[in-house]
Amino acid sequence: MPATTDSSNCDREQIQFSGAIQPHGALLVLGETELRIQQASANSEAFLGLPPDALLGQGVARVLGKSASAELRERLAAHSLSAGLVHLMTVQPLAGTPACHLFGHRTADGHLLLEFDRLDEAARISAPDVYQSVHAALHRLQSAETLQAFFDHAVVEVRAITGFERVMAYRFAADGSGEVIAESLAAGLEPYLGLHYPAVDIPEPARRVCRLSWLRHLPDAGYHSVPLIPECHPETGAPVDLSRSFLRSVSRMYTGYLKNMGVKATLVTTLLKDGQLWGLISCMHHSAPRYLPFETRAAVECLAHMVSLLMGRKDAEDHYAYRLKLGEAREQLLDAMFQANAPHPALRAAEPNALSALDAEGVALLDKGELHRLGQTPAEADILALAEWLARRDGLWFASHELAEAYPPAASFQPLASGLLAVRWAPGSPDGLLWFRPEWRQVVHWAGDPNKPMEIDDSSGEARLMPRTSFELWKETVAGQSRPWLECEIEHAIELRHGIVDLILRHTEQLRRINRELAESNLELDTFAYAASHDLKEPLRGIHTSIEFLQEEDGPLLSSSGQGRLATVLRLTRRMDELIETLLQYSRVGRIDLRLEAVDLNELVVQTLELFEPLRKERATARMLGRLPVVECDRVRVGEIFTNLISNALKYNDREEKRVDIGCDASADPPVFFVRDNGIGIAVRQYARIFQIFRRLHPRDAYGGGTGAGLTITKKAIERHGGQIWLESVPGRGSTFFFTLAPPR
Ligand code: ADP
Repeated sequence: MPATTDSSNCDREQIQFSGAIQPHGALLVLGETELRIQQASANSEAFLGLPPDALLGQGVARVLGKSASAELRERLAAHSLSAGLVHLMTVQPLAGTPACHLFGHRTADGHLLLEFDRLDEAARISAPDVYQSVHAALHRLQSAETLQAFFDHAVVEVRAITGFERVMAYRFAADGSGEVIAESLAAGLEPYLGLHYPAVDIPEPARRVCRLSWLRHLPDAGYHSVPLIPECHPETGAPVDLSRSFLRSVSRMYTGYLKNMGVKATLVTTLLKDGQLWGLISCMHHSAPRYLPFETRAAVECLAHMVSLLMGRKDAEDHYAYRLKLGEAREQLLDAMFQANAPHPALRAAEPNALSALDAEGVALLDKGELHRLGQTPAEADILALAEWLARRDGLWFASHELAEAYPPAASFQPLASGLLAVRWAPGSPDGLLWFRPEWRQVVHWAGDPNKPMEIDDSSGEARLMPRTSFELWKETVAGQSRPWLECEIEHAIELRHGIVDLILRHTEQLRRINRELAESNLELDTFAYAASHDLKEPLRGIHTSIEFLQEEDGPLLSSSGQGRLATVLRLTRRMDELIETLLQYSRVGRIDLRLEAVDLNELVVQTLELFEPLRKERATARMLGRLPVVECDRVRVGEIFTNLISNALKYNDREEKRVDIGCDASADPPVFFVRDNGIGIAVRQYARIFQIFRRLHPRDAYGGGTGAGLTITKKAIERHGGQIWLESVPGRGSTFFFTLAPPR
């Protein structure tokens, strides 16, 4: 009765410990030091002329004769047999059975295995021709222009050398499933080209064996296995590891599978790329069993090595032009950023193709929390949430062609972006670049239902996995996947990130240096202004007192015009003293350290208003609109700021009813304070001038006079707090001065 089971069961089948071989050769297990036979395959008589009973416990000379076994010893010493199966020599067994090729290798558990494979005289004679055709095949392979053309050639060449009816190149995907990417087949056979095989078809133990040996041959899928006698090793009591054995009996799962496909013989070679299992070249014979002699096998193995080597190069060449294009785009973008000397705007203003050279439908740049999108991307909120998720992950780059697998909310924008390639500037921050690829609704042709559980046949009383019996092609639409990202695309993104981060860092460092220099030179200037004005004050005081004395003592002696001049000199020294005093005040704001404390601005403004005479005398109202917050600031400086602004609001106002409103927008971060009046107003073109020192927009004595330094000092005090000052004004209607007391967030 068939039952179902999880296919991972077959991942656990230990095919290398079957304790049996295929019948097309014989196998001996020997003790290393004396070369004494410890196990022999049950078919030894056919190949070596003696049954296992007659062999066990004997030295190998019993089979090969003295001189051949001495030669064998030498060969064994000359080869490292641990890396894999080695052709040691050809031998003529004493018993007169036909000559054999003798192979040897040492198992991972330290046993010496000898394998005998009948020598094929015809193959020996035609061997030079085979090598010749391998040579020619290699030449043709090298000239293939693309990876696809390369494999199209490879399967034709292998078929020509082996004479198998079907030769396929098979490529593994990351999930262990595979696809037939090239095929050469005899007329009348159903093509398998383009078929996908689920991972269970080549379970992990089989993939392990693929990695260990370059070539596996099954001359007759309907063979009866030959046990080793005894089945377990006499010393360890366990079956020997046959992973690298050429004769190893294969899994029943595999032969059943082949039977279902109508395959009578196979030859499979491994394709490795950078030491990793990349694919297989799989040869199948459908009409009859097919045995390949050693010489041809060696030629195919050699070809598989070469294909593995050349394939990596072809793969790289295949993407060469694309790599070049990506490199140029990268250079162009980084150059623009470098020239602009400001990475962020250049990144945003980049030519669309600089970011989109990478083959994606959309790209998003998240920069200091601001999102810029190009092409087809998910909605803004979706990207921001995705970027936050990325920021919580380890690693500064991320690539997936099935995003919703890793990030389930992506299911909602799957059609637009099933694939994501992202780089971030710094750990913990979502800022960076994200490329999106839409869903690739491909139709995958599976050579069997990959979701259908396997069947267990327990009719023999022993539960074992059965291969699927139906290979009818069916189609599965793969949802939620995009085209996978290529290695060179991921490299491009990572390198672009390096370049950008490098520029950002360089730019930040440059800004920091400029700011430092600016702060230093400002301080120097303030110190200079302080010293100069301080030193000017003393002689000025001297001049002033001398003139006063002169006026008192000798004034009456002077003519009236002389007296007038003395009065002018006195007035000018007073004015000069006022200016020097203002300069000192200005330099003090720049030099002294702020005394920061939590200040209740309501209290501070109320105290300030009390100082204003006009409010008491004239028809002027000053009021606070709403409550002001408590802020961290220098109480004295901020008091001066309010005093200055309120004083100007009352001064530059010729209305009957002067009005000053003081308030704050506390919802802004940092809060924005304002002082609004209904005074004379200021023209827009004068906005910058009023903050320049000693600049007045009116004659010196108009509007109560002034030095023209109030707003300059106010601005400086605000900037010392990290804040900014700006205004809005309509001439004739009034002005509003706004300011903050902390850096922008
Ligand atoms: P001062 O008041 O000593 O002249 P300030 O630096 O305070 O110097 O102001 C510079 C100039 O800006 C003033 O001379 C005046 O022309 C203009 N100004 C300042 N505040 C106002 C205001 N609230 N309304 C109109 N004009 C103003």
